[in-house]
Amino acid sequence: MYDLIIVGGGIIGVSLAFKLAEQGFGKILLVERNYLGSGSTFRCAGGIRASFTSREHIVLMKRSIELWGELKEKLGVKYSRSGYLWLTHREEDLEKIKGYMRIHHMFGLDTRLVGEDFVKEVAPYVDTSKMVGALFDPLAGKASPFDSLYKQFLAAKSLGVEFLVGKEVTRIDIENGAAKGVLIDGEKIPARNVAVTAGAYSVYLLERNGIKIPLTPVPHHAALTEDFGRLFDPLIIDVASGAYAVQTFHGNVLMGVDVEEKPFGELSVKLAFLEKVVSVWSKWLPWLPNVNILRYWPGYYEMTPDHHPIIGPVTPIENLYIATGFSGHGFMMAPVVAEEVASWITSGRPRSQEAGNLVLSRFEEGKTVKELAVIG
Ligand SMILES: Cc1cc2nc3c(=O)[nH]c(=O)nc-3n(C[C@H](O)[C@H](O)[C@H](O)COP(=O)(O)OP(=O)(O)OC[C@H]3O[C@@H](n4cnc5c(N)ncnc54)[C@H](O)[C@@H]3O)c2cc1C
Repeated sequence: MYDLIIVGGGIIGVSLAFKLAEQGFGKILLVERNYLGSGSTFRCAGGIRASFTSREHIVLMKRSIELWGELKEKLGVKYSRSGYLWLTHREEDLEKIKGYMRIHHMFGLDTRLVGEDFVKEVAPYVDTSKMVGALFDPLAGKASPFDSLYKQFLAAKSLGVEFLVGKEVTRIDIENGAAKGVLIDGEKIPARNVAVTAGAYSVYLLERNGIKIPLTPVPHHAALTEDFGRLFDPLIIDVASGAYAVQTFHGNVLMGVDVEEKPFGELSVKLAFLEKVVSVWSKWLPWLPNVNILRYWPGYYEMTPDHHPIIGPVTPIENLYIATGFSGHGFMMAPVVAEEVASWITSGRPRSQEAGNLVLSRFEEGKTVKELAVIG
């Protein structure tokens, strides 16, 4: 009998397994149907920030950033606090980021408006000639999705977590209102607790148990250029379009921007994305049309109606937990979400009130929260 079965081996499931194993929690099995990281995790940009506008996002992300620092120290995860730079070409966007900044300061997040000289220093290959203003978030940064997942996987494994890869959980075993394990290949695997960390696919899995969650997978796209030496340190955002670009640890530029997509749409390539992302970024990176794009891929954002995750118990079912619906921010939130869900599993309550505000029942109870600063 397992103490916990985790369904889904993306950054959330693997971080939860590692967190609980570190705490000496009992017998854990993580089941992944494809390969670890194969969902949204290995398709993501690796950006990490607390510069949001909701109390929940800011408070939880400040803690997550502390935990990213600990992961770097403990496991040598590739993580750097290289900042986020919000760039504007228009007066109206400058007003918008000033509004964001006022909210950040209310929650003790030290973002600041910066001028051309500062931008040139941290982002020498960004063209500032038409810049109207910029906001810098020094606490933000980036981590390598592959490195952070894989190092936590190895650490969890060495602490005794079992990994079953290439097997699909077809259903949660729920009897008398409580999770009792999972079904794989028609066989029941018993467990005292089950945690669903199946990313965008959580909606389909829970549907098989008649559990509806307000989660919509929406395709988002990213493109990767060839690699260069230092171009810009922070992740950069074009405030007008919400597009982002980040230089990976290897030196490639990874870019994303929102394009029209259907909810529950299939993951397929779109020429319109490439055209838009190059057109938006050429205004800041005039050299971009001359570089090679090496790879391009779509992946899911797991969207919720209020753009905040669904974490914690799946009430009224006992011993069933969920962590999904990150609406494009699941990678950065993984350390804090692992800590909060571990707290729910081991003590019956979250570590913070902000996590407690993000339970599934908020939608039925009309207690949704609001986020204005969703990007790419
Ligand atoms: C283009 C793009 C850029 C992004 N950039 C960022 C960013 O900069 N910063 C950030 O924080 N976030 C970013 N995100 C979002 C981030 O990638 C996700 O929020 C995060 O990876 C979610 O992790 P997860 O572990 O919940 O889900 P996933 O990584 O999707 O993992 C879920 C896993 O569950 C498995 N699974 C599903 N069903 C079953 C089943 N029935 N049985 C067994 N296994 C199952 C899947 O195979 C998958 O591996 C981006 C996303 C995209 C698409």
